Amino acid sequence: MLADMKKTDIKKLSEIYDPGSRESFVSLYMNMEKTNERFVEKRKKVCRSVLKGNNELIGNFDKTMKSIEKYLDMNDKEHGQKGLAIFASNEHDLFIAYKLGVQVEELMVVDTSPYIRPLARLRGDYETFSLVVLDNHRARIYVISSGKIEDKNKIARDIMKKHKKGGMSQARFQRLRVGATEHFLKEVAEEMLQLFSKDNVVKIVIAGPGNAKIMLKDLLPNELKNKTLDLIDVDFDEADRYLISMAEEAIQKDEKETVSNNVIRLKEEILKHGLAVYGLNDTIEAVKNGRLELLLLSKGYKKRGWICEKCQLVDSDITDKCPNCSGNVSEVDVIEEIIEFAERKGTKIEFVDDNPILHELDGVGGLLRF
Ligand SMILES: [Zn+2]
Repeated sequence: MLADMKKTDIKKLSEIYDPGSRESFVSLYMNMEKTNERFVEKRKKVCRSVLKGNNELIGNFDKTMKSIEKYLDMNDKEHGQKGLAIFASNEHDLFIAYKLGVQVEELMVVDTSPYIRPLARLRGDYETFSLVVLDNHRARIYVISSGKIEDKNKIARDIMKKHKKGGMSQARFQRLRVGATEHFLKEVAEEMLQLFSKDNVVKIVIAGPGNAKIMLKDLLPNELKNKTLDLIDVDFDEADRYLISMAEEAIQKDEKETVSNNVIRLKEEILKHGLAVYGLNDTIEAVKNGRLELLLLSKGYKKRGWICEKCQLVDSDITDKCPNCSGNVSEVDVIEEIIEFAERKGTKIEFVDDNPILHELDGVGGLLRF
């Protein structure tokens, strides 16, 4: 079954790490349309040659790779599957594989903990949303989650059958018709309310010809009205795939706006000396203490640094010993460490495309809870 990227999965992964900060975890991301076995083979060879000097590590690596290769041999691509993510360590008795309904860049990382950054990014990109297509007597409701499209419900009411036109005045007929449409739309709203609370739908797009979509939005309870991003004028019988891609476009546009508004909020809070942090050190501090409500990161930004094996202090640059407790340190990508802390603390993460303000702030910042 295709994975449904629930937050708890990433949180669980973020809590796993090698207590001795040894490179004992393999994380593999594959693009099912592109990645072939040669990619895995090549990366395996390179990583082996680097780990060769350490008997313990190479032993664990070989066994871990064997279980990954066995999985790849035995599991065919599933219908709708576009990506695959595997987190494994023989020594730590870990093997988790997610079949993804969305594309992911190929990557194989050997590190002191599962490498979760791409997964965290995907979750942000693919929040559960719904598309409702309707006219004045038919509706289709879709729920789209992690690239998976579920055709949840079709509602059709032959609303005019009861009201034969014969003998009726045009005005009376018109009144009845409007009443019947309203009744039908109320049913659709009721159905949406029930479905969406179960599926945790966070965004809604309503599409269809004519006025029905506007009438439906007006009828929705506020909690659904606020989630409705866009009304799109389309033919009711338009192909599913076309409708869903239009809805996706609307969702992406909205996501971009939200992110850039959050960066503006960050800037304003900084100017007011309010509830914001920026730069590596202050952000790390706040995220570790669980004070961060929202973490903003430049997409693709990496920063070489270290983590202390004893006290978990993280900092950029390079050092031999921890300045806090003199413990041993290992080299890490500081940004990945920040993401792991954030996941453990339940901080929301947003990945920001090229943004000059965030660049100025060292690529990281965040809004504080208090
Ligand atoms: Zn330390």
